Amino acid sequence: MALLYFESWCKYDRYKLKQHKEKGLYLCSVGDERQEYNPFERRAEILFALFNLGMLVKQGKDIVEKTLDFTSRFGFLGFGQAVIELEYEDCSIKFHHGNPFGVDVMHYTDFADLIFPFEKKSHRIIKGNESKATILFAINYEKNNRIPCAIFHPEYCEQSAWTIHYAAYLYQTLLKFYDGNAFEHRLWNVKTYIREDGKQKWQFDSLKSAVDIMFLELLQSEAPIIKLCKRCRKPYVSQSKKSQYCSASCRNVYHVKRSRQKKRSCN
Ligand SMILES: [Zn+2]
Repeated sequence: MALLYFESWCKYDRYKLKQHKEKGLYLCSVGDERQEYNPFERRAEILFALFNLGMLVKQGKDIVEKTLDFTSRFGFLGFGQAVIELEYEDCSIKFHHGNPFGVDVMHYTDFADLIFPFEKKSHRIIKGNESKATILFAINYEKNNRIPCAIFHPEYCEQSAWTIHYAAYLYQTLLKFYDGNAFEHRLWNVKTYIREDGKQKWQFDSLKSAVDIMFLELLQSEAPIIKLCKRCRKPYVSQSKKSQYCSASCRNVYHVKRSRQKKRSCN
């Protein structure tokens, strides 16, 4: 199966939460109006939203409703493509390490069930007769509905737990970065090409992959647009290169604490 790569992303106008009896809570699109946007033009908003979600997870808060807010603003993260590393001849799929499903390999039909949990007719292929089966082939709505691939199909769903898993990962990695610890950040299905004019363009298979690129660029930026507050560890939109605190009160509290510590160590 060939993965599809994009330079922009699609979102539906509305989403809702829906409970699946066995699989858990899903985010589903409602209505059929799709809008296209460039995630790199909204990078500050997207990263800020995900870091906040990740922080709330760390604080033990229930953020299910907030995953719905995120999806309504930016669309699905696109795990239906993002997780795929390899497709084997026997129709099993190898997932990228660190995927939110907690398994590394899944049969194609189980995967299709996972991302189309409420839709039973179109994607089912009888086991044993699936030699030509691919996600794109089996869910072939392309010609009729001009939908480029499974992840933009109206019946495609993602579990809110996947968004939570990813947001938690981003925030944890950000903490490691701010604490000066080494870490590995893998890009999954991402491509880049250099145009004739020498400019570089990113291509990504999902919003998740686009966020991975933006995240990497943020960490390498000399003037990051989003920072973590040195005191409370909250993400904030940074207005200046030098800023280290989310608010004046955090700055004051931090300095008062530090001068007290200094005094104590002098005594
Ligand atoms: Zn703060």
